[in-house]
Amino acid sequence: MMIYSFIPRSVLERLSKDNRFSRSAREGLTRSIPLDDAIRKLRKQASAVTVVERSLAFNGGPGAVQTTPQDLVYDCHHGKTLPGSPVANPANAADPVAKAAFTQSADLIRFYSTVFHRNSIDGAGMSLISSIHYGTDYNNAFWNGSQMTYGDGDGHIFTNFTGSDDVIGHELTHGVTQHTLQLGYENQAGGLNEGLSDIFGSMFRQWRADQTVTQADWLIGSGILGADAKAKGYTCLRNMKNPADKTALSPQPIDMSGYQNGMDPHDSSGIPNRAFALAAIAIGGKSWEKCGQIWYQAMAGGKPSPNMKMKSFANRTRKSAASLYPGDAATAQAVDTAWKTVGL
Ligand SMILES: [Zn+2]
Repeated sequence: MMIYSFIPRSVLERLSKDNRFSRSAREGLTRSIPLDDAIRKLRKQASAVTVVERSLAFNGGPGAVQTTPQDLVYDCHHGKTLPGSPVANPANAADPVAKAAFTQSADLIRFYSTVFHRNSIDGAGMSLISSIHYGTDYNNAFWNGSQMTYGDGDGHIFTNFTGSDDVIGHELTHGVTQHTLQLGYENQAGGLNEGLSDIFGSMFRQWRADQTVTQADWLIGSGILGADAKAKGYTCLRNMKNPADKTALSPQPIDMSGYQNGMDPHDSSGIPNRAFALAAIAIGGKSWEKCGQIWYQAMAGGKPSPNMKMKSFANRTRKSAASLYPGDAATAQAVDTAWKTVGL
């Protein structure tokens, strides 16, 4: 089982050594790094629990009644024990962070259900668990295979991680990928894995704001940047339309000429991210209406492919465009051209 952190370790390390930031801000970033190691140590335990949960779900068999997913919020009270203590009635909680975690999870369930006819992230009504106030000033959010965890951010470089819907959209889509394509986290499959999380995270954000492809800014993580990061000219974590954007905390390659095996999936994802943004913009309208349907079918409509290459995924979207929208030459062309532009 993987731990999928929203802010890549390399970004935390680089920022913690950037002397343009205050000493206290750099110390906060450094404190957020070793916690990642502690999380990894818990990985095997979490994995064992998930295996049991999944086998119980499977034993329900094909005739089992599909359940309505529950939306549960827990409070870590700045400790590191998961999931923490349950928050009663989070929809009306006095703590705005609890309320935000609840509301965004509910919206995410609604997004996958109404737009893609998917019952929660596993397709079978899996309950969503969110743990808030993890650690002290913790500069990250992560999906550990069975639940979401949010740090408060240090308030300087990053703000509270429940404050941006693309964070939860990104992280929970790792769960959808885990139950569909089952992509690995290395080489091209890893880049696709990260790319799908950005793509569906961005779509979720656009859907909540009811934006067209031209109104959307195509930025990832713009809502969690703190005042110190903004003062240094940073605008986001990644930019899907222009992955090489120098105002992104983590600029990426824009096409396959910048790809190499072994690179961080948070970097190689720039390639499939840009292909989706280009295709969606060329198709027009709202990203989830046509382009999103094509990408969703490519992700959820076929067999798992843990070592999938980017070219294979590109070809799946070409086939999906033709089968979902037969005779729609403009849409097929938009998808094909977008992938060719990034070298696929
Ligand atoms: Zn991710």
